[in-house]
Amino acid sequence: MKGSFPLTKEEIDKQIPEKVIGNYAYGHSKVNSEGREVFHVDYVGRADEEPLRERIKHGINEGYKEFKFSTATNVKDAFEKECQNWHDFGGPDGQLDNKIHPDKPNGTDYKCPICEKIEQQKRQLKLERPRFRR
Ligand SMILES: [Zn+2]
Repeated sequence: MKGSFPLTKEEIDKQIPEKVIGNYAYGHSKVNSEGREVFHVDYVGRADEEPLRERIKHGINEGYKEFKFSTATNVKDAFEKECQNWHDFGGPDGQLDNKIHPDKPNGTDYKCPICEKIEQQKRQLKLERPRFRR
């Protein structure tokens, strides 16, 4: 992702091309234990029905301070990237304000690749578990 940039209308319009879709993160800069400034991600999202430029602006009124973004060439890529981001930052138990898993794009049956992998591992474990015999 590119950034971070201050979350203002002017900066959003300056950084993001018109009419593209993609992904974004809201967050804030903070100084870590080693004294270096790092970007702390507070929220991850995607824009597929609405242009990324417009979507990101919704965060201004919600009090977020900075954003990062990346553009996507199609809805599936944007969805999968959002899922990746959401899992990377800890999903429901992590640091994000979004507590609910990203929803699949309207009119599609795309599945989260990370959840799929977890399910697969669970199935595998079940197969390997020995059965009790009388
Ligand atoms: Zn998932």
